Amino acid sequence: MKFGGTSVANVERIRKVAAHVKREVDAGFEVAVVVSAMAGKTNELVAWCQETGSHFDNAEYDAVVASGELVAAGLLALVLRDMGLGARSWQGWQIPLLTDDAHGSARITKIDGSQLVEGLRRGDVAVVAGFQGLHAPTNRVTTLGRGGSDTSAVALAAAVGADRCDIYTDVDGVYTTDPRVVPKARRLDRVSFEEMLEMASLGAKVLQVRSVEVAMVHRVKLYVRSSFDDPADPKLGTLICDEEDIVEQQVVTGIAFSRDEAQITLREVADKPGVAAAIFGPLAEASINVDMIIQVVSEDSTTTDITFTVSGADFGRAKEIIEARRDAIGYARLNGTQDVVKISAIGVGMRSHSGVAARAFKALAAKGINIRAITTSEIKFSMLIDEAYTELAVRTLHSLYGLDAR
Ligand code: ASP
Ligand code: MG
Repeated sequence: MKFGGTSVANVERIRKVAAHVKREVDAGFEVAVVVSAMAGKTNELVAWCQETGSHFDNAEYDAVVASGELVAAGLLALVLRDMGLGARSWQGWQIPLLTDDAHGSARITKIDGSQLVEGLRRGDVAVVAGFQGLHAPTNRVTTLGRGGSDTSAVALAAAVGADRCDIYTDVDGVYTTDPRVVPKARRLDRVSFEEMLEMASLGAKVLQVRSVEVAMVHRVKLYVRSSFDDPADPKLGTLICDEEDIVEQQVVTGIAFSRDEAQITLREVADKPGVAAAIFGPLAEASINVDMIIQVVSEDSTTTDITFTVSGADFGRAKEIIEARRDAIGYARLNGTQDVVKISAIGVGMRSHSGVAARAFKALAAKGINIRAITTSEIKFSMLIDEAYTELAVRTLHSLYGLDAR
C-alpha cells in the first residue's frame, strides 16, 4: 500500500490511512506501506535548500529532502501501534534500498527485502519511507526524483513478490483526462501498462513515470484508488495491468496534456549535412530533453526552418546554448515561446485502426485551432497548439473519441 502526501497531510488523515491498513491486515494480508512526506513538506524542504545559497550540493539536498518521508513513516507507525497493530518504520538505508549516485533523481539498483519480510512474518506492518535510498559505496542518502515514492512502492512490491501494489491517492483512479478540465471525464476500470506509461509521460500526474516503467518490467499489478474512501467500504479504482487482461479495448483510452512545453524555432538555417547535429548535440550534452522536432523541406535547398520543443524548465538554458552557437550552427533568427501546450491521445487500439489522428486534426480545425507540430508513435499522437486553446481542444477530443461520461 502506498499513500501520497495529501493522504498523510496531518495526524487525523494518518489515522484514516491506518484504518485502511488495518482493513487489509484483518483480511489476512501481510502489509508493507510506503508513505510520501506530508503534503507540502517536500516543497518546503526544497525551498529551504535553495535559500541557502549558491554552493548547491546534491548530496546534501538529498539529506534534507529525504527527511519529510521519515517523519510520515514514523507517525504512521505510531498511529498503527496505538490501534493495537504491530508496526515499525523503515528508512531507505535500513532496508536497504540501494540506488546509484545520481543525487536528486537516483535509480534503484537493488532492494534486499529479506529483513523487511522477516518483520512481516512476525506480524509487524512495515512502514517504509518512500522517495529515498542509499548509495552504498559513498554511504550517502539519495532520493528518486519528485513523485518518487510511487517508484519506491512498485520496486518494493516487485522485490518482495507482493500480491498487489495499491497506490492510494486523492483521486479514485486514472481518468480519461483531467476532470478539472473536462467534468465529463470518466474513471477507467483498467488501463494497460503501455498506455499508462504514455499517459504519465505525456502529462497525467497520477503516477511517476518511472514507477510505471518498473511495474511494466516486473509485471506488478498496480491498483490506483482513493484514500479518501470510507476505510470500511472502499470504492473501485483503476487496475493497471497487461493488455491481454483488458476485454473491451477502446481505440483511444485517454487524452493527456502538458502545459510545461516550450517551442524554439530557428529561421533560415543552412540546409547542409551536420546542422541537426550542431543544434541537438550541445543540447544533449547539457541534459536537455528535446521532444518534438520538425524540419521543413526547403525549396531552394540552401536554407530551412527547424522547430523543436523542450520542457518549460529547460527553455532559458536551451535558448542560451543555441544563441551562444549561432555562428557555428548558422541561422538567421531564433523565435521562442512558452505559450504552447502539448495535447496527446493515447490508446493501444490505434495499432489496428487507421485514420485516428486525422479525425482529431479535422475536429480541431473545425474549432479554428491551429496545430503547430505533430508527432505520432504506435499508440499515441501529440499535437502542439496555443496554450489559450487547451480546454477547448481537450474537450473536443474527449467527446470526439466517445470518452464523455453519459
Ligand atoms: N515527497 C516527494 C515529492 O513530493 C516524493 C513523493 O511524494 O512521491 O516529490
Ligand atoms: Mg505523487
